[in-house]
Amino acid sequence: MVIIATLISNFRSSSFTLLPILIILFTAIISTYSHRAIDIFETSNNQDYILCRECGEHLADPKYINNQLSPLAQVISHKTLFDQKGVSIQLLTNPLKIKFDAITVAHADCTLVRNWQSTPLWYPGYYWRPCVCTQCKHHHGWYFVPKTDITSNRVTRTDRSFYLLKLENLIGEKFSNSLVAIPKIL
Ligand SMILES: [Zn+2]
Repeated sequence: MVIIATLISNFRSSSFTLLPILIILFTAIISTYSHRAIDIFETSNNQDYILCRECGEHLADPKYINNQLSPLAQVISHKTLFDQKGVSIQLLTNPLKIKFDAITVAHADCTLVRNWQSTPLWYPGYYWRPCVCTQCKHHHGWYFVPKTDITSNRVTRTDRSFYLLKLENLIGEKFSNSLVAIPKIL
């Protein structure tokens, strides 16, 4: 920009031979910034994200899917979900005898509710707490932490903890965007 200002200040005292140079410089600058804008747009569009199916709130980055398998899973299938290959989908049964599919992620924006529970629930040796959507409070699943990582009702380590999320309550951001209807022009 300093170069351009210098050129402009000298422009009046110079001949018109500077005009082509200025045009070339402006063209180069505009081209650079427009390419950056395209890069940002494409990056944000290429990455899928796990959303709350109820309200669309961001819930988890698919790169944190970590396939923590429960010994009580009745069926385990592997699929490509949220742009991630080899996602383990576990069929589990809750205490009310209702079956549901679930995945696990290492990190999620899921609000923990109630106190730590020690009653075994799909992962022996783990304490757990339910978690709900930060926005609409819909129940999404449970946060599991090894008993050895909890001292005085507080988590002392987090690298072995994970979230178990009910698949039926999730939706991918890409798929969600594809459902946006375009209004008809009357
Ligand atoms: Zn929600």
